[in-house]
Amino acid sequence: MSYAFSDFPVDGNGLAAALDAFASASLPETLALARFDADGRLEEASDHFLSLFGYQREDALDKPFADFVMTGESGNADFAAIWAAAAEDEDASGTIRGRRRDGGLILLRGDYRLCEPHPSGGQYLILAGFDVTAESDAAAQSRNEIAALRRTMMVAEFDLDGRILTANENFLAAFGYELSELVGRYHAMFVSAAYAGTDEYRQFWSALRHGRCQTSQLRRFGKDGRELWIDAFYSPIPDAAGLPAKIVKYALDRTLERRVEQRRQDEVRYLADRDALTGLYNRAAFSRHLQELALGRVGGRDGAHAALIVDLDGFRTINDAYGHQAGDALLWVVGQRIRSVVRDQDFIARLGGDQFAVVVPLSPGDDDLPEQLAERLLREVAQPIDVQEERLSVGASIGVALFAGGDGPEPAAEDWLAHVDSALAEAKRSGRGTYRLFDQALHARIQRRQLIERELDGAIRQGDIILHYQPIVRLSDEHVVAFEALARWSHPSLGAVSPDEFVTVAEKTGQIHAMGIALMTQALQFAASLPADIGVAVNLSPMQLRRDGLAARVADLARLHGVDPRRIEIEITETAALGKAPAVLANLRALKAAGFRLSLDDFGTGYSSLSHLLLLSFDRIKIDRSFAGRFLESTECACIVDAVLGLARALGVCVIAEGIETADGAARLREMGCAYAQGYYYGRPIAPAEVDRTTLGGAHISA
Ligand code: C2E
Ligand code: CA
Ligand code: CA
Repeated sequence: MSYAFSDFPVDGNGLAAALDAFASASLPETLALARFDADGRLEEASDHFLSLFGYQREDALDKPFADFVMTGESGNADFAAIWAAAAEDEDASGTIRGRRRDGGLILLRGDYRLCEPHPSGGQYLILAGFDVTAESDAAAQSRNEIAALRRTMMVAEFDLDGRILTANENFLAAFGYELSELVGRYHAMFVSAAYAGTDEYRQFWSALRHGRCQTSQLRRFGKDGRELWIDAFYSPIPDAAGLPAKIVKYALDRTLERRVEQRRQDEVRYLADRDALTGLYNRAAFSRHLQELALGRVGGRDGAHAALIVDLDGFRTINDAYGHQAGDALLWVVGQRIRSVVRDQDFIARLGGDQFAVVVPLSPGDDDLPEQLAERLLREVAQPIDVQEERLSVGASIGVALFAGGDGPEPAAEDWLAHVDSALAEAKRSGRGTYRLFDQALHARIQRRQLIERELDGAIRQGDIILHYQPIVRLSDEHVVAFEALARWSHPSLGAVSPDEFVTVAEKTGQIHAMGIALMTQALQFAASLPADIGVAVNLSPMQLRRDGLAARVADLARLHGVDPRRIEIEITETAALGKAPAVLANLRALKAAGFRLSLDDFGTGYSSLSHLLLLSFDRIKIDRSFAGRFLESTECACIVDAVLGLARALGVCVIAEGIETADGAARLREMGCAYAQGYYYGRPIAPAEVDRTTLGGAHISA
């Protein structure tokens, strides 16, 4: 492939140089060149042009321009139009929908130049084009963008002192000045006064003066104070001697993109802060809000606030019974109701699950506001909610904690959160459907809990926690058949600490495992000291059952103390957590396989969500004393006791009634067919030394 540049006489406007540059970049291989006379006839063409259009040179020459383009198509420039464009602007360019000799389409992107003089005296037109038929849309797109960029590029020139020499239209339009208002003034007029005084700004100009290009992405200010975000490139231009003579600034206005990006970021932040289901703030935003309040960053002058955590009661049951969709719908409604109770400017979040939080500012005189708000929230949430044609209702427990306002360190926020949590836990403990305000009494309870937590380890190791024993009797003959082991801790400063209290702490800290083994050891020693037909009931925390290998450990201990596992009854309280971990079932099975008896403790108070599988693992059911102890006064309790007895008979499980305090109660239970009972009527828990072993023997619980 060859053609000679001499075939293309050019004017002195640098086109020859441009073509030279093309040539040296070996562009002729891909550059299609054609020369048309003023009538639009092809005078000369490069090999590449000819091969693109499928012509031999002799067939192509003298053909009219119209033969090389698709006729009658919109967007296809005719020769006169191209000529006119080229005459007007020496950089005319465009894409032609060309037509090959065989009729095929060829897209040619080209530049057109009018040149003179022609050897024949007139003007002529050169088309220098590239075949872009196969070019992807993306490439065309980026080409368009480049063209658009050229159109919007701002250019200004400065002398070495930063004085404005000139600026183009784009520059003037963006900044809102006339050229005459700018010339002679300093670049510093575009930057903030504060920035103009910095070393950074001085160094920026010093670098330019030393011939180093600079880029900046900065905020600038237009004439009317408008904010502009500019991407700028500053290029020092050398004089003939190679020394910087002036500075040319090429800049693009990014203000629009910046705003779009800002909005996008706002949106991302909005979503990151929001709970998807309810559109309320989420837990992360809630924590941050507390922190900001605690740091005194927001919240006004005195900054007193109340935080409330609303925790739904019985939500899990609804979720289980009606499905997650119904559960979600209900949560959404609850979110709306909470919103309706508080003011627009108050902070509402869904903390996840069925917990919501509200933070409200308190003004002087708002003393009752937190409690009133809690009551209103309880009322609102408790209204029935129609979901999927079902009328559902949930209750709520609410914890409230006040914050005096602050500029304190960050732990203040953590304390605050801990206070609301404690208040909530307290509300739940005191029977749900109610609220609790964190106050001094609660504070004292928390300190007590922390003290217990600190000293529990030592107490376990030193054997300060000991078991007392309460008799379990057979109702038919009132013989003692077993003892329940109940943990006792008499603390040097706190006095007697209830097992309910320290067991809960131990469960939370994990100390329950060590404590459980120590107490099991005591119980086995006690069992070994009793006649062989007396059983010992030992309470195990569900948490202990979740630890792999617990059953084997207990079986080893029994062997070590020479106690037949059949004498040991393991009491386990029914809780929702019980069925969750796979280890629980494995441990229960292994305990049973080793011969231990299993009692389901506090039956009726828990979640009644035990699978049959779990239920069937138990040998005995202990009816909680809140029913068994009160069934004489309450027909409702009597019904429950009756129902449990019926259930137990059906399952072939024996029943122990707890909390029997009177002879009447015992007699009535016997009539109802309950086999065993335990309670103050038969005996309080006593120290092992006080147990009179001589009266024992000849009894046994039979499953
Ligand atoms: P629980 O297993 O239901 O124990 C029965 C509780 O009822 C005992 O309270 C007992 O003293 C009390 N009680 C017995 N008869 C009567 C009565 O006639 N009237 C009344 N009002 N109360 C009666 P205690 O000893 O305070 O134990 C409370 C709970 O602490 C136990 O409830 C049990 O869940 C837990 N616990 C006690 N010892 C241990 C232990 O060694 N390990 C574990 N994991 N938990 C334990
Ligand atoms: Ca028990
Ligand atoms: Ca019990």
